[in-house]
Amino acid sequence: MARPCPCGRKLTYETCCGRFIDGGQAPSTAVELMRSRFTAYGEGAVDYLVRTTGGAARESLDRVALTEHCKAIRLVRLEILKTEGGGPADPTGVVAFRAILRQGGRKYEQTERSRFSRAADTGHWVYVDGEID
Ligand SMILES: [Zn+2]
Repeated sequence: MARPCPCGRKLTYETCCGRFIDGGQAPSTAVELMRSRFTAYGEGAVDYLVRTTGGAARESLDRVALTEHCKAIRLVRLEILKTEGGGPADPTGVVAFRAILRQGGRKYEQTERSRFSRAADTGHWVYVDGEID
């Protein structure tokens, strides 16, 4: 059943973020990874969020807290504000975005500048860290 992708591109979930989250494909750009991670929060795809977090940050992830967070929020909209690097041939990338979310009946926004790099073992994009504005 086709449904629109929560990340806001005019594609179905299966052809957009779903092919990364469920389909085992690897995003070729940092912004694709960013979009799929946003979508993964809405899908409760904790394994995907863990898998796409790089090195040190992955070790400090609390899976229980992450699962609860995914359950508590509803995705409203994602706006990509700016990207630097992060292309198919780049080793690193930065994506600035605004995520509009809903929690406990209240809408709120999170603006963040996330850094991405390539995992040493697979060469796939991973989330490194982010600065919340
Ligand atoms: Zn998507």
